[in-house]
Amino acid sequence: MAYDEITSRVKAAVDSSGRAPDEVKLIAVSKLQPPERVVSVLGAGHRLFGENRVQEAAGKWPGWREQFDGVEVHLLGPLQSNKARQAMELFEAIHSLDRPKLARAIARLAQEMGQCPDLFIQVNTGEEPQKAGVTPAEVDAFVAECRSLDLPIAGLMCIPPVEEEPTLHFALLAKLAARNGLTGLSMGMSGDFERAIAQGATHVRVGSAIFGERPYGEAG
Ligand SMILES: *Cc1c(COP(=O)(O)O)cnc(C)c1O
Repeated sequence: MAYDEITSRVKAAVDSSGRAPDEVKLIAVSKLQPPERVVSVLGAGHRLFGENRVQEAAGKWPGWREQFDGVEVHLLGPLQSNKARQAMELFEAIHSLDRPKLARAIARLAQEMGQCPDLFIQVNTGEEPQKAGVTPAEVDAFVAECRSLDLPIAGLMCIPPVEEEPTLHFALLAKLAARNGLTGLSMGMSGDFERAIAQGATHVRVGSAIFGERPYGEAG
């Protein structure tokens, strides 16, 4: 199946970058995929998945978590502050921390709940007006603010502009992370995960290359 092909390609990219196999995690992005495709990847033993929307994930993952041990689900899509609590209950990690207001909401809830998912700060490396994320110039101050709120910042995340060579964006994200003492790098999707691994990705987010095209269009 395509899943096996992608795990081999991830492994080959990790090897050829001279990195250790456990340094790179493959997030299988299951948003909008028919359930039978997701179950088949669960059946193959995969346990790390990504979703774009809180509501959609809330509808499918509680059941699969009961059926399969050790499942981990990460939120990749934009998060409204009023859904933060639900997201913190549903996901082991959130890759879309993109503004101070959301950071403060999560910090308040983390205090109250006594737990917090791992957080990745989303960086708008292409400075695209329609895209979420802090600008590269804002990263240092935002990391400092999140640290002052005691948030568990695992690393940085980016979605490069579709029409540009992603390697430059991956390299920029790696530089921003290193400068802030962060080790996690969530970058690389179906079309460019090998290039992301070469630039130091620790989490690649691969959807359509594993599951096939999403039948119902794109999730925001
Ligand atoms: C949908 C999505 C992915 C996966 O995209 P593919 O091109 O299907 O691999 C990765 N990251 C984010 C943030 C996404 O929204």
